[in-house]
Amino acid sequence: VLPRLARPFEYEAPRSLGEALDLLRRWGPDARLLAGGTDLLVSMHERGLTPACLIDLKRIPDLDEIDVLPGGDVRLGPLVTVRTLERSPIVHERLPVLAEAARLIGSVQIRNLATLGGNLCNASPSADLAPPLLVLDASVEITGTGGSKRVPLSKFFTGPGRTVLNGAILTAVWVPAPPLGTRAVYLKHTPRQAMDVAGPGVAVYVHLEAGSAKCVEVRIAMGGVAPTPLRAAQAEAVLRGKNVTPERIETAAATAVGEIHRYAGDAVDQRSSGRRFSREYRRAMVKVLTRRALAQICR
Ligand SMILES: Cc1cc2nc3c(=O)[nH]c(=O)nc-3n(C[C@H](O)[C@H](O)[C@H](O)COP(=O)(O)OP(=O)(O)OC[C@H]3O[C@@H](n4cnc5c(N)ncnc54)[C@H](O)[C@@H]3O)c2cc1C
Repeated sequence: VLPRLARPFEYEAPRSLGEALDLLRRWGPDARLLAGGTDLLVSMHERGLTPACLIDLKRIPDLDEIDVLPGGDVRLGPLVTVRTLERSPIVHERLPVLAEAARLIGSVQIRNLATLGGNLCNASPSADLAPPLLVLDASVEITGTGGSKRVPLSKFFTGPGRTVLNGAILTAVWVPAPPLGTRAVYLKHTPRQAMDVAGPGVAVYVHLEAGSAKCVEVRIAMGGVAPTPLRAAQAEAVLRGKNVTPERIETAAATAVGEIHRYAGDAVDQRSSGRRFSREYRRAMVKVLTRRALAQICR
């Protein structure tokens, strides 16, 4: 049984982006945007969040589309559900690591409601769609009253539950077409199977030179280990431009752990995996997952 909400709220369902922006301007910080509601309603029921108005984005046309652009880049609308990411032939064919990550989220019921935009804008350090999108070098389109701008996803998160949005709406996620010959994988640690608490997750993207072990490009991103999902730039440097060997994989995995050491104390959001796994355990898992992911795709 859900606890009673602390206070009633207004509900608005704008039919255009312009209308939604007008409502945001009128209500200011008392308003919250509503997508699937799987994070927002939990915050309202269990964490005392009391918005004066919910602005439902779901009646705005076209925000749930997936488009392949000339050149092969993919544009994902913020209202694309996690279930659609899991099942879309376009995502399977072009961005399989994203489909893989989507499949690991919650239950089918949650995935049917949960959206891509909600997962990123909620800014949980362990949001499962963040590491794969970071290694795919995605950027987000942010639309506010002053217009739209593109921001690399790596600059989008500023802390647990915080982003650079500042009252704007995330209106698209852009993913550059991965070159032929790249492979990516997302591994997440969950002690049990379905609907488990969020554990650390690691996404790895590797482009090997055709017919050799030389690593042309590598990207590694981690979730659930620091205040925001983040790229492991130093670990990437261990492999970029070099032949991938078991020894280098081991060094890269250890370096990735070193990169989260700069976050003093237990900085992971307490709503997320920080509450459930010790710092030492999360770091040990990052090493295991990074090593395993690299070994899996560099076979
Ligand atoms: C039982 C359960 C299990 C879960 N398991 C997982 C899991 O395994 N992995 C995982 O990553 N997450 C999990 N979640 C969290 C949640 O389902 C996802 O983060 C989901 O993708 C959120 O999307 P939503 O559409 O429901 O967001 P909402 O709840 O509608 O919104 C979340 C936040 O984002 C803001 N927002 C939404 N859309 C926009 C936009 N376009 N522009 C600006 N701000 C916006 C809202 O105002 C709100 O602050 C789980 C949740 C539950 C309840």
